[in-house]
Amino acid sequence: MFEKILIANRGEIALRVQRACRELGIKTVAVHSEADKEAKYVKLADESVCIGPAASNLSYLNIPAVISAAEVTDAQAIHPGYGFLSENADFAERVEQSGFVFIGPRAETIRLMGDKVSAKDAMRKAGVPCVPGSDGALPDDSAEIIKTAKKVGYPVIIKAAGGGGGRGMRVVHTEAALINAVMMTKAEAQAAFGNPMVYMEKFLENPRHIEIQVLADQHGSAVFLGDRDCSMQRRHQKIIEEAPSPLLNPKLRDKIGERCAEACRKMKYRGVGTFEFLYENGEFYFIEMNTRLQVEHTVTEMITGLDLVQQQIFVAAGEKLKFRQKDIVLRGHAIECRINAEDPYNFVPSPGKISTFHMPGGPGVRIDTHAYAGYTVPSNYDSMIGKLITYGATRDQAIARMRIALSEMLVDGIKTNIPLHADLMADVAFHLGGTSIHYLEQKLDINHK
Ligand code: ADP
Repeated sequence: MFEKILIANRGEIALRVQRACRELGIKTVAVHSEADKEAKYVKLADESVCIGPAASNLSYLNIPAVISAAEVTDAQAIHPGYGFLSENADFAERVEQSGFVFIGPRAETIRLMGDKVSAKDAMRKAGVPCVPGSDGALPDDSAEIIKTAKKVGYPVIIKAAGGGGGRGMRVVHTEAALINAVMMTKAEAQAAFGNPMVYMEKFLENPRHIEIQVLADQHGSAVFLGDRDCSMQRRHQKIIEEAPSPLLNPKLRDKIGERCAEACRKMKYRGVGTFEFLYENGEFYFIEMNTRLQVEHTVTEMITGLDLVQQQIFVAAGEKLKFRQKDIVLRGHAIECRINAEDPYNFVPSPGKISTFHMPGGPGVRIDTHAYAGYTVPSNYDSMIGKLITYGATRDQAIARMRIALSEMLVDGIKTNIPLHADLMADVAFHLGGTSIHYLEQKLDINHK
């Protein structure tokens, strides 16, 4: 087992990984930007190294700086968290070439899945059902593009092959708007991801976002750890996640889950990963695979009793999985609310100093946060300041606990989206379960017109 791990991330996930390491008796190195130097989790780590100024491209995304930090501290492995360098195949490669273990899949797997066109192709070959659309990237020829859209049927969605974080997508309803939309998405994709390649999918009108968590070792074993429903979204970004997905037939879940585990075995996947699907009319359609730990891994931890970060570390160290599919029991229900420093209704970020910070507690309540009273939320990064997770024997109990927890939670000095979460926990459609990915935006439109 490793003696020392460097955590190449910040915020709640840096603290989460640190906790997992400490429990295993592994020393940690926190790397941080100048903006994060006062953060408590940085001081809690066994060692810390400043890797650059506040701007992420000069610090958290600075590959040579991260690798040098591992060299000077004699860390043996690097955990990338989520976001930043976690899905950067070049980083994974450089980490391993420099003699460290990358806690994640092999660079070639990250590269294959990072390009959504090649990812879909690989999934089709592995027998995983995909959203109907273009065969690979769209050509330059307008007539061909128009022909493809006709075949797929409007509305269609144009998506960047290198896209992520809900960016680089455009919905097209008519042929008249098609070519312009393709051009614009290409230009944006080039600017944002350095790759102009785009592809086309049928735009599903009423789907839910359901994903499958997988875990695989380096010896050919792979299991799936149930599903999560992440349909409560705004601008293609998740706000609430739960496990298991409400109203999903467990037989259907097990069938798609086994397909995903089998796909992992075929591609010699290593570590944790997530197969993301849109689910409509009883059918699953693959949209992408994330080759890293996800923000919402917590809800899976609550219902499986596994610590996914520790599992990542075991697998990276070359250990075999200690359980098989039949040993995995899903128990109860868990919900996660992402707590963001932002206006709850217009979503404008609200960085600044937190004056009051009172966290809820009680049975089935978990909080993953690096924030505290007196902490200043920097304006340089993502607005998420923590995650509130509740667990219950049933979905109703998890919701009831979430309502109480949200009512106890107090964050002053900055704005947060706690009031929005409180509204959603009282929402009738949410209670019934199975709302589509468009539900939240439709609800906000109605309430705020
Ligand atoms: P990203 O990598 O940016 O997260 P995804 O491909 O995972 O992109 O899609 C993110 C979200 O965008 C989905 O959860 C869904 O809300 C929406 N979306 C993507 N593809 C489609 C589609 N074909 N039809 C309808 N919505 C889609």
